[in-house]
Amino acid sequence: MTDSKVSGAPLKLVIAHLYPREMNIYGDHGNLLTLARRCQWRGIEVETIGHHPGALFPEHADIILGGGGQDSGQEKIQADLPRIQNTLTQLIEDGAPALVVCGTYQLFGSYFKTIGGEMIEGLGIFDLHTVGGKTRLIGNIVTRSTEFGEIVGYENHSGQTWLGTGVEPLAQVISGAGNNGSDNLEGARFKNALGTYLHGPLLPKNPRIADFLIQKALERRYGAQTLAELDDALAHTAHQHAKERPR
Ligand code: GLN
Repeated sequence: MTDSKVSGAPLKLVIAHLYPREMNIYGDHGNLLTLARRCQWRGIEVETIGHHPGALFPEHADIILGGGGQDSGQEKIQADLPRIQNTLTQLIEDGAPALVVCGTYQLFGSYFKTIGGEMIEGLGIFDLHTVGGKTRLIGNIVTRSTEFGEIVGYENHSGQTWLGTGVEPLAQVISGAGNNGSDNLEGARFKNALGTYLHGPLLPKNPRIADFLIQKALERRYGAQTLAELDDALAHTAHQHAKERPR
């Protein structure tokens, strides 16, 4: 495969990985590996910057990634959120692509009220809020979205998320619970930022979403780009297996 270049210099993307210590469960780190690999196979350089509480957020980030975390992990990072709020909001408003899963998805909303009644203020990037419920919503999940087709993954959360009018759902639930187990919606989308409850990890089994993030990041940094096709036979097999697993 030929390397992707602009004016002779290789294309490069910077991935900001939010709170990799506190927010990283059920294999979510695989999302980062998938993005890095799919870039590497196309000759696109990748630099990953883990954002830890207290650090300066990388303003030049091209893709923002965040994983799931227990309520306790969310409590640990809440004091840092106001520090990164402006930069992150501006990046997303400017069209920077993002993928945030479960615990970080919840904190991209306006608040998460835990089952114990604690209020965790979110970033307010997504017009949604989350309230802790008594029942955990656990199991394999299949959804369908207009842009990415069928999406498969694994969910495990007690938070129930309710979307406001300023955000679109990412997908409709085919089997599983999704945002709250009631309205058949899963995840959220605002501009090029995607929020979802799906772990698994998500991207190895749903490569269209990985390529969406890479494509949007390249476009924003370098202008229109055509992504080289990859052989996704293995990814499709993994997708099929995940889909056929019992809840
Ligand atoms: N703590 C949150 C909940 O249970 C998020 C869980 C997760 O990230 N998997 O709702």
